[in-house]
Formats: sequence, C-alpha cells, structure tokens
Amino acid sequence: MQRQHSHADRLSLLRNVQTAWQLLTEHVLTPMLLLDIDATIILTNPAVQTLLGSHNTGSSLFGLLNDTDARTAQRCLDALVSSGAEQRFIARYSSKQTGLGFYTHVLSPIKHDQQIIAIMAQLSNLHDQPLGAGSIAFTGNLAIATDNGDAQNTLARMQTLSSALEQTADLVMITDRDGKIEYVNPAFEQVTGYNRDEIAHKTPRFLNSGKQDRSFYKNLWETILGGDPFTEVFINKRKDGSVFYEEKTITPIRDSQGAIAHFVATGKDISERMRTQERMQFLTHHDTLTKLPNRSLFMDRLRQAIARARWHHRMVAVIIVDLDRFHELNDRHGQHHCDHILLQLGKRLSHSVRSGDTVARFGSDEFAVLLEDMASEKDVLQLAKKLLDTLVAPFTVDNIDHALTASLGVSIFPTDGEDAETLLRNADVAVYRAKDLGRNNYQFYSNELSARVFERLTMENALRHALVRDELQLLYQPQFDIRTHTIIGVEALLRWRHPQMGLISPGDFIPILEETGLIAPVGEWVLRQACTQAQRWHQAGIKNLSMAVNVSGRQFNNPDFSTNITNIITSTGITPGLLELELTESMLMRNASKTVSALNTLHHIGVTIAVDDFGTGYSSLNYLRRFPISSLKIDRSFIRDIAEDSDDAAIATAIIVMGQSLNLKVIAEGVETQQQLDFLYQRGCYFIQGNLLASARSAEDIQALLINHHSTVSG
Ligand code: C2E
Ligand code: MG
Ligand code: MG
Repeated sequence: MQRQHSHADRLSLLRNVQTAWQLLTEHVLTPMLLLDIDATIILTNPAVQTLLGSHNTGSSLFGLLNDTDARTAQRCLDALVSSGAEQRFIARYSSKQTGLGFYTHVLSPIKHDQQIIAIMAQLSNLHDQPLGAGSIAFTGNLAIATDNGDAQNTLARMQTLSSALEQTADLVMITDRDGKIEYVNPAFEQVTGYNRDEIAHKTPRFLNSGKQDRSFYKNLWETILGGDPFTEVFINKRKDGSVFYEEKTITPIRDSQGAIAHFVATGKDISERMRTQERMQFLTHHDTLTKLPNRSLFMDRLRQAIARARWHHRMVAVIIVDLDRFHELNDRHGQHHCDHILLQLGKRLSHSVRSGDTVARFGSDEFAVLLEDMASEKDVLQLAKKLLDTLVAPFTVDNIDHALTASLGVSIFPTDGEDAETLLRNADVAVYRAKDLGRNNYQFYSNELSARVFERLTMENALRHALVRDELQLLYQPQFDIRTHTIIGVEALLRWRHPQMGLISPGDFIPILEETGLIAPVGEWVLRQACTQAQRWHQAGIKNLSMAVNVSGRQFNNPDFSTNITNIITSTGITPGLLELELTESMLMRNASKTVSALNTLHHIGVTIAVDDFGTGYSSLNYLRRFPISSLKIDRSFIRDIAEDSDDAAIATAIIVMGQSLNLKVIAEGVETQQQLDFLYQRGCYFIQGNLLASARSAEDIQALLINHHSTVSG
C-alpha cells in the first residue's frame, strides 16, 4: 500500500534524513545538493559552498542557472519524477573562484515508501573529465563517455548510501557526541518497536536489557570516545520488553576540526542466529532424550569439582549407574517404550541428589552421578544405597510395570584418582565388578577403603539378594548317640553359595545379616526350610529325628519370634518336640530375667531349647536351673585340646557333670579325633557331633546316611 506524502510529511522525513545527509556529505569534495521535488534547495554540502559561495537554502536550483540550463534542468526533473529513474544533464555555473564551468548533474531520486520525496543532485566539473568529441549535449540523459573513476564512484556511492540508509534491513542509529539520538532508520523502528519521534534526543539507554554488565558499556564508551569503532553483540530490549541480540558496530564520526561529533551505529538483529547457537550449545552439552548433561559437560564439572575439592580438602565421588539387562528390555519392548523408562530413571536419580550435584547420561542405559563436597566415604556409601533404592519402585510405561535393577560403580577423589579421567575409568572398573558380582549392587573401586570394609560392603550388597537368588542353602550335621551308634538328630547349618565368591561360612556373614536386619527374613527361611526337611524325613519313615536350628540374638529378641515359630510349625506340620532351637549362652544370659519368660513361651509351644557354645560365656547357675532347657552343647574350643590341655579337659568335664546333674542332655561338638571321643565317652558324654563321625552335608546325603544307618532312633 502506497501512501501519498504531503509536503509536510516529506519535510519531516527529510529532517530525519538530514543528519545522515550531513554526515555522509560533509567530507566529500563532490558538490552535492539535496532538492525537494520542485527543485527547492534543502541542503547543500560544504563543497557546494566552495564552488558557488554562499547561497540560500530554500531557494530554487533554477535560480542558479541561466534560462537554457534551467529549462534543461526542469525537463530532467520532470522526467525523474515521472519515471523515477536517475537523470543526467550538464549545466553551467559561474563561480568567483573558478570562473564559468560546465558541470554534469546527476539527479538521483530519494524514495520513501516508493514515493520520491527528494532528489539528490551531484555535480562534477566537466573540465576534470576527458570527453569524447561531440559527445556533449545540453539534454537530459546525457551519456558522458568517461572513466572518471573517483568522482563518479563517490557520487554513485553517496547516492546509494543515502537511500540505502532508509531502506536497509540493518538497524541504523546516529547520535550526537553525548549519545543523544538524532536519527534512526525504519529498520531500527521496526526491530525495536520504537517510533523515531518518541526516542529523538534520548540516549539509547532504553535498549539496555540489563543482561550486560557495566564493564561492557564502560569498555564501549572508552573505545568510541578514543575514536575507535566498537563492535560487539548487544543484548538489547525491545519496546515490548522482549530481548533481542544485535550485532552492532558503533563508529565515531569526526567533524572538520577532527573532533568527534557523532556516532553512527549500524547493527543486525541476530536473535535467530543466537538462539540457534544457544540451542547448539545446549545440544552439544546435553543428552537429547533426558536433557541431562552429557559426558562432556559431566567431565567439565568433574574437573571443576576436583579443583575445588583439592583446595578445600574435600572428597568428590563419581558413581556410574548402569541398568542391568536393559538391552533385553529394549529388544522386547522397543526403543521408544524404553526411552520412557530412561526418562523416569533420569528424574529419579536427579531427585535423590542435592541440587549442586550432577546427574548425567552418558548414553544408552548408562548414567553418572557427580557428588561434590563429600565429607566421608560413609556419606558416599549412603548415597549409593539411596540411588540403588530409587530403582525399587517399578517403572511404569503404558501400564506395563518394569522391575529394574542397576549396577553401580563408585570412585572417590582423591583416593581413587587425582584427575577426572582416572576417576571415571575407575568407576567403570567398579561397575564391571558390580556386574560380575551378580548385578543390583554397588562396588567401590577403592584400594584404600580397607579390604575388610570393602568385603563387608560387597557382602552386604550381595547378601541383599542371596535369598531371592536362591544362593542360601542348609547343610545338616548329624548328632550321634555313641552308646547305640545311632543318629539322634541333625543340626541345620547355613551356607551361602555365592556365584563368584564361592562357599561362604556363616561366621562371615551372619554378623552382617544381624546388623542389617536381614537376619529376620533369612532366619525365618532357615527355620521353615529346616522344619520342612524334618517333616519330609518324618514322612519318609525316619522317625524321631530331631532338627536343631540356630537362632540369632536379634531373631530371638524379636517380639514376634514365638508367633513365627508357631506359624512355621503349623504350616510345615513338624512335631514341635523335634524342633530344637539353639541359643547361645551369651544370648540367654544377656537379659536373663526376660529370657525366662521368652523361653517359657517357647517351651509351651513344645519346642526344645539347647544352649549353644556353652562354656564361652558366663552362666548363672541359678538362671540355668530356671530356664526350660533340654541340652547343653560344649563349645568346640574346649573339645579341640581336650586330650592335651588340662584346663580344657577340666572345663569339659565340669560341663558334663553339671549338665548331668541338671538333667540335661550334654552334646559335644567339633569332635575330630578318636582320642577326643574316648575322653568324652569316659566322662559320660555320649552325644557327639563332629567331623570324626560325620560332617555337615546336604539333605540327600543325610538321607542316604540315615538309611544306611537304619538304626535310627525308634523312640
Ligand atoms: P555352631 O552352632 O556352634 O555350629 C557348629 C559349627 O561347628 C559348624 O560350623 C560346624 O560345621 C562346625 N563343626 C562341626 N563339627 C566340626 C569338627 O569336627 N571340626 C570343626 N573344625 N568344625 C566342626 P559352621 O557351620 O561354620 O557354623 C558356624 C556357626 O554359625 C554355628 O556355630 C552357628 O553359631 C552359626 N550358624 C550356622 N547356621 C546358622 C543359622 O542358620 N542361623 C544362625 N543364626 N546361626 C547359624
Ligand atoms: Mg549350633
Ligand atoms: Mg556351637
């Protein structure tokens, strides 16, 4: 849509162009006039004054010409206005300094909104131009054969510049020396949303978005006041408050005395480019799926964390979290489905760490956690546990629940490495070990965490899964009555068959079970398993075989213990009297008065009680008398040296005598030699458990043994 410009419109537009005009034409030697379309002189540059002396702006160009030239000029002007095309003609001027001279006039239209609002006349002295013979004619559109490079080029450039200023897509702003705005072009208005009138004579401070600090602007002013151009990306604010990026050059313009008079700022709106760059930046440092930092950003942060930790003497931990068997899930449900699992996992992990810590995704199902400012290994350990726990709840995608586990590898600065690469590598090593150890656990790389602690951690981890993975097993060791050579019962002994660590004896893991509370489910499993086996043998015709089961302190102290026993007896069908609970002497004596009632409850259920490891603790004979117990088991340590050590012999003898006097069955365990057996027999101890007669063995082996022995107690 074209708009008709009134004379007033044109003048106002021209005023805006005025500053630009002055700047552009001031230093040019070519005489230049800015004319209204009716040939009124609006502005001239200093070169015109040099040529013609002073004259009045506001007068007509025609007044400077003789009649003939004026008519030519009029024709050319008309042609220009009607066609919009550039016109040339030659006209004479008489000047005091140069005398009469012929000048080529190039009339260029200056347009706004497609309308010609002014005309620029550029004059060049014909005497300076080598002309072809007969080529001069006093007409419009005069073609001048010339290679007058400089003058012509300057003319062409100036002409282009003046209209370009208004039409360019670049933002142009001209200020005075104090930074007060004198001119802005339409592109500036369009991008910033400000109208030129509302910002005239203001400083461009309204563009300030506050996103660049004072030093930025200080540097800017120092540069341009020093006379140098300043080029930078400005983060500016539009009228509507939105931010845009402007790549801008501010050039100081000097006046004829060489003093800085103006600043011209030309800029480009590069917001789109910057946004792309920012996105690129984000993409190169983040995982596209989870939007978590990727490996490269993680490594950056790790390096920084190490530098800080070194300074503050703190620890930094790297934990690699690798999902177990994720590829199987991927194969079964497809990548898209599994992406949602990874998204959920990323969120869960992020929620379990502090805000300063980093959770990154390295790719596929591998995540990494960076823990800063840790005080001790214990803290790290706790977090590793916590991370493992975040996987316990199922991951639900499309109404399908997925139970997932992960293997975690931990390395710690400074013990496991001084630099980021080493720490990551060692955390990786630890992950592999975690996978090796049957997954769903965490491993520390550390050589310096003491081997024991390390073993503890490893075991504790692995123990959590021993039950579910069916790694626990009961062996049974026969107890003999050597008077009749019969097997009167067996003791159930727990074994842990770890796939990598092999057979682990209960002494090494029962304390851990107790500490972690895992003894509750494991203890119950042992009882149920033993009773089931006893009942199976009973049903196979092996009658009256007692089943001794070891009970730990924590199990015994559990208020639900007797209820559990009752339940197990009921559900397995075992005759209560065949179940013998082995409680250690120290357990019973620890809180003897409470023990009495607990034992009474068990006694009422019908089970029998044996005091295990007897002789190693301090027994109150008074209590021993009041406890409803049926057997004493002489601790292995007294049996071992019974034949050589007179003290041991004396203790063993005393226990036997005391047991008999209390009417208790006395069992000697750990009998390995004939000598020991003979000694015990001579003292009247007939109940023997030990490798000499039979070691602990599987249920099948026991069954074979029992059938061979045949002579099982008949009752
Ligand atoms: P304990 O109840 O005193 O069990 C007897 C231990 O002596 C068993 O060791 C057995 O294998 C061992 N032994 C038997 N005869 C001989 C022998 O002739 N020579 C030698 N050197 N050792 C012999 P084990 O199976 O390693 O069990 C150690 C301890 O672990 C048990 O001592 C018991 O206190 C505990 N334990 C075993 N199974 C369980 C269980 O299911 N629950 C609980 N709470 N504790 C258990
Ligand atoms: Mg025992
Ligand atoms: Mg014992």
